[in-house]
Order: sequence, then structure tokens, then C-alpha cells
Amino acid sequence: MAPGGLSQILGGLARGDEGDPWAEARCRDGAGTMVSLFFSEQLDDIARAKAVCQRCPLMSPCLAGALERGEPWGVWGGQLFANGKVLAFKRKRGRPPKSERAQLTA
Ligand code: SF4
Repeated sequence: MAPGGLSQILGGLARGDEGDPWAEARCRDGAGTMVSLFFSEQLDDIARAKAVCQRCPLMSPCLAGALERGEPWGVWGGQLFANGKVLAFKRKRGRPPKSERAQLTA
């Protein structure tokens, strides 16, 4: 081992980036600032979390792991989970309107 190699590895482990396959995860910022985004009930937050996943190099193993674990909720691997299953889409909370609302135009 090269001089300084072990201390370099231990320093990397302490930072959580040496040998950790999830170090490249786009949602992992080391401060947990994206947790509320990935576990939000708001449709716009869910869409933003899914967009983050689309640029993540770990999307496939992340989704496979979430399916295997039956994640109860949240966005994993670019998909929204509820009760351990992928939700194709999520409706807004509350009752749907009885009639279509007029489209806003700018
Ligand atoms: S695919 Fe998984 S690891 Fe990557 S950003 Fe999404 S939730 Fe995080």
C-alpha cells in the first residue's frame, strides 16, 4: 500500500465516499435537505423528486431495491411508492371538481 494510503481510505470512509456505491446518488447531499422533497404529498414536489432521479446514475438499482423492500412510501428510483407498490399517478388531495375549471391563460 502506498504511504498515506490507509489514512486516505479512512478519511474517505469518514466522509462516506470511499467504497460506498451510493455516494453518487443525486438525492444524497450529506445534509438530508432533499428528504422532504422525496417524501412529500405535494404533486409538484413529487415531480421535482422524480426529475432528480432521472439524472441519477443509480436509478435502476435504487428502483429494484425499493421494489424488493416494498418501500411503504416516497419517491425511489424515479417512481412514487405507496404501500410497497409503484403508483402510476397521484391525484390531488380532496374531491375532484364536479365540473372542469376554466383554463388560465396568460
Ligand atoms: S434514483 Fe434513488 S438514489 Fe437516485 S436520486 Fe432517486 S431516490 Fe436518490
